[in-house]
Amino acid sequence: MNKIRISIAVLFLIFISPTFSLYCLCSPTSNELTVVIDPGHGGSNHGANYNGWQEEDITLTTAIALKKKLEEYNNVDVYLTRDSNISLSLEERAAFSKQMNADILISIHYNASENHDLYGTEVWIPSSGKNYYLAKGLGETLLNKYAENSYYDRCVKTKIGENGKDYYGIIRNAAEYSIPAIIMEHCFIDNPTDETTLNADQIELFGIWDAEAIAEYYGLPYKTEPELSYKPYANMPSYTEYDNITVYDDQTAPTDAAVKILGEQNSKTSEIELTAYDNESKIIYYSYSTNNGLDWSELKKWDGDNSCIFSADLSSCDVLYARIYNCFDLFTECSLPIVKKSEVSTSALTTTPPLPETESDAYEDTTQPYTATTSEITEHKTATHLLFISLFFLICSLTFLILGNRQI
Ligand SMILES: [Zn+2]
Repeated sequence: MNKIRISIAVLFLIFISPTFSLYCLCSPTSNELTVVIDPGHGGSNHGANYNGWQEEDITLTTAIALKKKLEEYNNVDVYLTRDSNISLSLEERAAFSKQMNADILISIHYNASENHDLYGTEVWIPSSGKNYYLAKGLGETLLNKYAENSYYDRCVKTKIGENGKDYYGIIRNAAEYSIPAIIMEHCFIDNPTDETTLNADQIELFGIWDAEAIAEYYGLPYKTEPELSYKPYANMPSYTEYDNITVYDDQTAPTDAAVKILGEQNSKTSEIELTAYDNESKIIYYSYSTNNGLDWSELKKWDGDNSCIFSADLSSCDVLYARIYNCFDLFTECSLPIVKKSEVSTSALTTTPPLPETESDAYEDTTQPYTATTSEITEHKTATHLLFISLFFLICSLTFLILGNRQI
């Protein structure tokens, strides 16, 4: 009987146990992606406030729409750090992400700038290791989605603080738990380029775009319409060899900035080319001044790699100034003295030899027939009369002398 039991045990070890182990290896332990959505600010931390837009409110609206849309996909669990207007510290938000075993923490924000001049969408990501690569791909997928919908691409960026750690608290705190966190700055609520696109529907639509980009990046299948599914993990980066890398933020402005006028300088609009180079980050804006730097144009979109062409009226401009900005908002200034057409013709008159027309005038002057004046004619006639009278008296005197001498 014992022999039978031992035989069964051996058979179990030989056949059943490896099969079970193989099953465990082949089947995924969990195919769920866990996404924590963090509506930025809240409670006593209001965030940016401009033209009636309050950041703590609109981040929550976007985040709720994001969660709702992302839950239309399979293989994903979605959590919110807050679903009402409450105060939460950055540490609490990161700790919640750890508690939920988050694969990614997405912090939802809206932007504003000191001079109200910036516009576009930007994503801040961890600066080092595996977290950098996991977040970078998602950030790029998000910005592509926004660029398709005409929101300007202000780049996926890192920023390192003075202590050598990530500058932004939510990224830094999540990194303590080895969770990649990104800050999604949807648009600038204080610049007309973005602000005029804002309304209640758009605030929710941002959440839907975010969800679609997350689903695309992680290759999530759509629950009810398989054709809306994304290819599994199509965009996942290979990051293992970069685990120890640190990517620093760009501390320098574009270099070799130059401005030149293309073709003929026109009194109304001249075509102007700007050139600049930046090896560390993308060039995204330019601006120019046609009144010696007193007033500057709004920030214009840089639409080339190292050069950009635009038109401007230079008719009242002495020196054309231009500024070229990279996506870290660092700029280089360049200038070009403008030679006006009126100055060209004035200097030609004062510095060139007399024109042929002037010589012709002089020639005509010398060849014109002489015409005496009335007084000159009168004087001439008087002199002639005196000459005739003198000759008459001379002839009379000589005749008288000759006749007188004969009588003697
Ligand atoms: Zn914010």
